[in-house]
Amino acid sequence: MKVGSADAAPGTRATGYLSVTDLPTGQSERLPVVVVEGSESGPTVWVTGTVHGDEPTGMAATHEFATRLRPEALAGTVVCVPVMNPAGLRTNERTSYYHGDDPNRYFGRGDGGETPPRTQQLVCERVYDEIRESADVVVSLHTSWIQTHPYTIRPRVGYGRDRDEAAAAALRDRIVELTEAFGLPVVNQFGREETERRSLSHTLTGAAVADGIAAFTPELGGRFVVEADARAAAVAGLRNVLVTSDMLDEPASPPTEFGLSAGGPLKRRVHPHTDAAGIVRYRVREGDRITAGETVAEVVDPHGETKTEVATEYPGYVLSRHEGAAVYENDPILDVAVPDDEPLLWDRSD
Ligand SMILES: [Zn+2]
Repeated sequence: MKVGSADAAPGTRATGYLSVTDLPTGQSERLPVVVVEGSESGPTVWVTGTVHGDEPTGMAATHEFATRLRPEALAGTVVCVPVMNPAGLRTNERTSYYHGDDPNRYFGRGDGGETPPRTQQLVCERVYDEIRESADVVVSLHTSWIQTHPYTIRPRVGYGRDRDEAAAAALRDRIVELTEAFGLPVVNQFGREETERRSLSHTLTGAAVADGIAAFTPELGGRFVVEADARAAAVAGLRNVLVTSDMLDEPASPPTEFGLSAGGPLKRRVHPHTDAAGIVRYRVREGDRITAGETVAEVVDPHGETKTEVATEYPGYVLSRHEGAAVYENDPILDVAVPDDEPLLWDRSD
């Protein structure tokens, strides 16, 4: 298989670049690509990292995963793009500096009417054309706030427009199988309303799922630095994605240190919010179990006097503490995993 200049014959590995746009200074913007072509035929799995430039753990995980994968032991094809956002990586920022856009909101957008797409959307469209053409599975590696317990976001699957309910259910089942094989705690995507409000249908995972490709989004701990334990968990998880796809024989030992013993399905929620501005003092940390009504933080004034206590309305787990000690009215305090009462399938026909 050939992606950009990375052209791998069966049983070999190739590295190269996919040129995605020209830069004003004469160079091309190029995404690094590694293609590992198995000696036997099989599915095609794409693994992408660092679509947010300040999230290097995904890049590090793809480096290690691709290097250790032996093409002669593989059935099918693995395509790794360690750096999806080279402009963001250069400046250690989430967005790309062309126009300050978040790349992970520009997949599958289509025609913008009378305004032509900006550079970042073109970059996304050009790499996504390659992904859509060949991918059976997409793993979009991310990280979250700096104090984050590693987990996997499992997308919900829509039906009703261009996909019937049975096809959507089959895709859902495949995503359930893959996310469980990956081995990190699984947290379902926000509920439908919040997903739409945040334009998450135009993330790489959102666009891929809309196109019928099994995709999911691991959050490998926090941003800015490579977290070695989360990287190791991702490498094992990716191998187990290949094992469950009948592409590889030897399963890796799944990580055990990140397990959350939930009694039922969990979903993401940004919660609670503070009703007063001030300086936040956390009483919980990432990975902690929380109970409904528990005070998770207090907000103090500049003299250190308590202004308000912030409690969670829901039981569940702390996924992340938010960054920054200073908070304003209604700022969020935590990302949490709470019981999920919404279905993984939704009707998009209305
Ligand atoms: Zn991200």
